[in-house]
Amino acid sequence: MLGLLSQSVYAQAKTSELRVEQKVDSLLALMTVEEKVGQMNLYNGFWNVTGPAPEHGGAAIKYKHLKNGWVGAMLNVRGTEEVNKVQRIAVEESRLGIPLLIGFDVIHGYKTLSPIPLAESASWDLEAIKASARIAAIEASSAGINWTFAPMVDVSRDARWGRVMEGAGEDPFLGSLIATARVNGFQGTNLSDANTIAACAKHFAGYGFAEAGKEYNTVDVGLSTLYNTILPPFKAAEEAGVKTFMNSFNDLNGVPVTASEFLQRDILKNGWDFNGFVVSDWASMNELISWGVAKDKKEAAKLAITAGSDMDMEGHVYIKALVDLINEGTVDIELLNDAVRRILRVKYELGLFDNPYKYGNKIDEEKRTSSQAHHESVLDMAKKSIVLLKNEGQLLPLKKKGQRIALIGDLANDKSSPLGSWRLASDEETAVSVLEGMQKYKSNTLSFSKGPVVFKGTSTFLKELDINTTDYTGFKEAVETAKNADVVVMVLGEHGFQSGEGRSRTNLQLPGLQQELLEKVYEVNQNIVLVLNNGRPLAITWAAEHIPTIVEAWQLGTETGNAVAQVLYGDYNPSGKLPMTFPRNVGQVPIYYNYKNTGRPIDKDNNVFYSHYSDVEKTPLFVFGHGLSYTEFEYSNLKVTNTYKTNKEVTVTFDLKNVGNRTGKEVAQLYIRDLVGSITRPIKELKGFKLVELKPGETEKITFVLSSKELGFYNNKQQFNVELGDFKIFIGGSSETVLEGDFILK
Ligand code: BGC
Repeated sequence: MLGLLSQSVYAQAKTSELRVEQKVDSLLALMTVEEKVGQMNLYNGFWNVTGPAPEHGGAAIKYKHLKNGWVGAMLNVRGTEEVNKVQRIAVEESRLGIPLLIGFDVIHGYKTLSPIPLAESASWDLEAIKASARIAAIEASSAGINWTFAPMVDVSRDARWGRVMEGAGEDPFLGSLIATARVNGFQGTNLSDANTIAACAKHFAGYGFAEAGKEYNTVDVGLSTLYNTILPPFKAAEEAGVKTFMNSFNDLNGVPVTASEFLQRDILKNGWDFNGFVVSDWASMNELISWGVAKDKKEAAKLAITAGSDMDMEGHVYIKALVDLINEGTVDIELLNDAVRRILRVKYELGLFDNPYKYGNKIDEEKRTSSQAHHESVLDMAKKSIVLLKNEGQLLPLKKKGQRIALIGDLANDKSSPLGSWRLASDEETAVSVLEGMQKYKSNTLSFSKGPVVFKGTSTFLKELDINTTDYTGFKEAVETAKNADVVVMVLGEHGFQSGEGRSRTNLQLPGLQQELLEKVYEVNQNIVLVLNNGRPLAITWAAEHIPTIVEAWQLGTETGNAVAQVLYGDYNPSGKLPMTFPRNVGQVPIYYNYKNTGRPIDKDNNVFYSHYSDVEKTPLFVFGHGLSYTEFEYSNLKVTNTYKTNKEVTVTFDLKNVGNRTGKEVAQLYIRDLVGSITRPIKELKGFKLVELKPGETEKITFVLSSKELGFYNNKQQFNVELGDFKIFIGGSSETVLEGDFILK
């Protein structure tokens, strides 16, 4: 039963005439300092409320804190029964009965897993990406979750960083549109609907630029990169109405982000008028001590609250120190009031006061987390995420009859790896393996040979992984199997646990014995289709030079095997495009398409290559935006209509024709270059793309309208401006464009 006070809080919450702001204020007026601090405290919930006491002081203490109203949110509480149990303590046993936010890393699905975010981004299909986040929200909310720690919108140009699997790749323009799609998918059209969850744009900011791609490392970037490359996807998420931001583990130019007033107050809250709240990353308040900017928890708490970090995720810093800091007069209560207002606002907007248990019950959870429709939808997303990198021998599509196919590779028979990193709620071993997918095409002879083991580690977080196994068991048999086949399909790459948080690598080649296996198989049979499974760009240079056919299949989630088989057999024509550049070797990293010209650029016409390495080709292995189809496309008739002077617009049109013999989809891409700027400008910048489906022989006229938003950039005073003058425009099916035009802004 609700206590008298909480009854009045709930009665008031239901009075819909009161606007959210009034409700927040009147609730705030009832709260003690301890209860305010409580709202700012987020506890991990890998524990049973009534069970034994595990880490961080244990369940008994957390139970007491819940009852006292000293907990505002929990993460990792599993399933509706557990969620309702903790929610009931907060709502029915605490003085004010303020409901909890229940957070979870719903990164690429909940139970039914979609491709990893980097793979989804390769679809360039914003509607599909939004639909995928919607499904994730429906499943997660039916299990009692009301808040996800997604999307990760960190731009990154460094494939060594394991977390590139969780983002949208290297480009701020593509990344911004994907951020918007994901926020809209999670949050739906009305946040108080029962099947929506609050989203969280993370990690604010700079985490994708960790030095040398090493996890949790320091970040030193100039303001131009910050404003033009790192911040745009965050800004897009904010404009899409994202309710929360998460700060990041890194420092930025000397200030650990959790203590950065510049990022959290100047830019986010004051600059962008963000009125949701900022949650710290896991214990990042505590880490202010290891960073060496705070000597103890008290100082860490003071720095974090002053900087605008509103909620402490498992740092136990606010709960231990904030009350004292207020009582001593060291921290102004108004800082707390602001943080708590922000948190309560999100709770009201989610409708939690009207119905704290609106999210899920056991029956809904079971029904909604395993629906056929969700499987079909993630299968569709998986197919859209596949990128055909190379198809020279015309081995693909495979013939449906009369072929002897050898399927080789440990990963081909793996039902865990395709689920990728971040699958906290899904059951293990639930992916359709590539072997299972291929077996559905019965009329060919399929022989499978596992070859050597790729991955011997465990999923245990941050443990050292054995990725360099030297166990040759199965090696010979695999080569033998390949010998007698018409086509060899080799599934090689990284296990799903070899990328993700805490999994940076200094070597971007195929781990373990896979490269050796590939070369040995090639000696006996060159008809190889290489299917890559990976969570980051790989430097597969030897393969790109020798293997005729390469399919980038990432980690595609629950329906992996079906998606791969349908693409290999031609029942689906691939249309994915790379959202990150693939390097030739790790020494080229960071490598990205929108680099600066330098004072000594590459001059292909005169065969002069100044700014380059002398021991590797000048180009990447596969460029940003690259991806083939089973059909071919032709671009022509570029026209630029410049009406900038009169209506601030430049209109670009061109024709896209399907010149092959099957229906296919193409992502037509538009890039610009601002030739002379007040600061150095990239040699190309993506500013538009369109996913178009065309029948054989069909032509579509494609139009892009460029406005100030696409033509401008942040100058070195951090002002967004369009600088008049000469521009170039480039069109094509990748960042290696085929049409070129120009215009002058006057
Ligand atoms: C990660 C976040 C994640 C959080 C909660 C941290 O280690 O950096 O991205 O949301 O844990 O699981």
